[in-house]
Amino acid sequence: MDGCQANSVNGGTDGGAKEPLNGSMEPSRVPPSARLSARFSSQARDATKPELSLRRELHRHGLRFRVQYLIPGLPRRRADLAFTRQKVAVFVDGCFWHACPLHCVVPKANREWWLWKFSTNSSRDADTNIKLAELGWTVVRIWEHEPLEHAVCKVTEALRDYGS
Ligand SMILES: [Zn+2]
Repeated sequence: MDGCQANSVNGGTDGGAKEPLNGSMEPSRVPPSARLSARFSSQARDATKPELSLRRELHRHGLRFRVQYLIPGLPRRRADLAFTRQKVAVFVDGCFWHACPLHCVVPKANREWWLWKFSTNSSRDADTNIKLAELGWTVVRIWEHEPLEHAVCKVTEALRDYGS
């Protein structure tokens, strides 16, 4: 098994959308096809497969945690998994929405809007990391493409740092 580095507070938001637009004005766009918006809205709402696999594997290790946890003091930001006693928040970031530098392909249609969207998402992720750290949380970000063992390793390392 390769590395088990305790590099937990690395937002993983560098790279990604290569042409971030300045300002927060939402560019106009033609509406996406119904099929496309259905796909994206269900992805945004449901736990992803990598997230479910991680939850299952952590359970197998005897770990208990909250899911979709609303962080106190941080309105409207949910951690995918939260170890509330140790204050470790885990996010499983989708390669598309979070603009993974390896896998995110900007759709051709509404390109400008997507670049704005990815840039907005990345800024929000970075902001969430900072605010959580200020509240005393350790943030673990995992790409959906990361091998399961690697993801488990990152979480257990973060928990170990807190002497759980
Ligand atoms: Zn990826």
